[in-house]
Amino acid sequence: MISGEIIARLGAFVAIFASMAIYELWSPRLERSEMAGALKSRRWVTNLSILLVSSMVLRIIFPAAAVGAALWAETKGWGLFRIIGMEPIVAGILSFVILDFAVWLEHVASHKIPLLWRIHRVHHADNGFDLTTGLRFHPVEILLSMFWKAGIVVLLGAPALSVLVFEIVLNGTSMFSHSNVAISKRFDSLLRRVFVTPDMHRVHHSSMHRETDSNYGFNFSFWDRLFGTYVPQPKLGHEGMEIGLAQYRGSYAAGLFWALKLPFTSLRRSDQ
Ligand SMILES: [Zn+2]
Repeated sequence: MISGEIIARLGAFVAIFASMAIYELWSPRLERSEMAGALKSRRWVTNLSILLVSSMVLRIIFPAAAVGAALWAETKGWGLFRIIGMEPIVAGILSFVILDFAVWLEHVASHKIPLLWRIHRVHHADNGFDLTTGLRFHPVEILLSMFWKAGIVVLLGAPALSVLVFEIVLNGTSMFSHSNVAISKRFDSLLRRVFVTPDMHRVHHSSMHRETDSNYGFNFSFWDRLFGTYVPQPKLGHEGMEIGLAQYRGSYAAGLFWALKLPFTSLRRSDQ
């Protein structure tokens, strides 16, 4: 199951990454220097290096990850859904939705708790916004997130297959919701009734504080509507909005090591 899991995850990642990358080149939503030419290459090297380091750290410290936790809980007979004897199909669907809510909640906490924001700001310090932004998460954030998800999985007794599907979908929707692809207004408003679209999530990457603290969803869009954190469009428009964190404007040129050190560098008042 574990090696099958790696093949399924890697296969889905490569397929989604390649198709989104081609789509971005073919039909970009915003044409900015950060998302083209030399600056894009620089950002991609940084973002993909962070992904590589984070994946390796996760493999070393918690190789079983969320799917392994589900299989482990299964052998022990643990978890709420098992105790109440829920149908596996219902347990699978519910696990998917609850895990998505848990990730939404974790994202809100990452903005509200200063210690977590130190780590999460690595993601927001990217001054561009494309599919590689959706892969740019500090190794500590990846580890914390995986322990959080694994804890929920064990508590629920989530079926391993639904956890695997969730992980693949989350990875794919993170690339999609950060992608710099042009989507018609009509399709966007239809899609965002249920799912997060790039235009919806770009608002979250605005350097305006009110907008950074909105649209926390990666996959389902309804959590933000339900909890009053939904902002439909950026105040300055997608063309006029500033992307990233104002205090790190330009400094993304400093690559992997700058990003890895960022959680441990001192916080100015304006950084909080
Ligand atoms: Zn965020």
